[in-house]
Amino acid sequence: MFTSIAERAVVVTGGTRGIGKGIASVFARNGAKVLITGRDSDVARAAAEELSVGGAEVSFIQADVSSREDCRRMAANAIGRMGGIDVLCANAGVFPDGRLADMTEEMLDEVLGTNLKGTVFSVQACLPELKRSGRGRVILTSSITGPITGYPGWTGYGASKAGQLGFMRTAAIELAPSRITVNAILPGNIITEGLAALGEEYAARMAVSIPLRRLGSVDDIGYAALFLATEEAGYITGQTIVIDGGQVLPETLEAIAPEVGPEVGRAEAAG
Ligand code: NAP
Repeated sequence: MFTSIAERAVVVTGGTRGIGKGIASVFARNGAKVLITGRDSDVARAAAEELSVGGAEVSFIQADVSSREDCRRMAANAIGRMGGIDVLCANAGVFPDGRLADMTEEMLDEVLGTNLKGTVFSVQACLPELKRSGRGRVILTSSITGPITGYPGWTGYGASKAGQLGFMRTAAIELAPSRITVNAILPGNIITEGLAALGEEYAARMAVSIPLRRLGSVDDIGYAALFLATEEAGYITGQTIVIDGGQVLPETLEAIAPEVGPEVGRAEAAG
């Protein structure tokens, strides 16, 4: 149904594990050339090898998105390996826990430096190649936390994730004449390696507040990124897609309690 993105050149920052690795995997499985990045080169190498199984074209470069110089090196490497950049998935992120009362300047610098400045640096570095592509796509990994919801300990994180959306809306306008679209995915609770290690009971407890009663998979996020990268999504820019199993919808937990629903209402009316 959708135009193939085979052979497109895709950069996924933070593509060495978790959601980014899932995004990279979906693009690779659909025939794209993919470059993944992360700070730990051993993890990056192992991920690239794993994602290349079956003949997919996945390479890696060690790069820290909070460094403008590293982002430039990343873009140059992408040109060298893939011949250009059609899609940038600016996904690298950290989520340090820190209550407002205790948050140090260093903690704030880390989370804003990676999540917000890192997004800006990555896009800036890839911009010339995205323009050259003629159908450039920027896909940000934001979060429901910050733009829509809050959670104790995540004031800095929430600010960084909401900040990405402020960046996106003006970037979308500035880059539209170059036929580059800029959109953001807002994941809810997604099962990554770290979360899976906490066990099924933990995941089940978290799933209670989600109408679809399960946590998301990294593929759930990857498929949305793939769609936003297609020709058919070329008229969508400056927009957000929430992928959370409906987590932000209920006004209270009671709204999704099994005993609440039309049946209860009907029974009450009848009684
Ligand atoms: P993760 O499993 O910890 O993976 C984070 C990735 O980012 C790794 O590849 C990591 O590699 C890389 N990274 C971190 N800091 C970096 C830096 N300064 N420069 C370059 N790479 C860096 O995290 P995740 O859960 O997949 O999260 C990925 C994105 O999704 C983040 O932006 C996060 O805010 C967002 N998100 C996640 C969830 C969720 O439920 N998991 C929900 C909402 C939003 P290195 O450590 O080797 O650098």
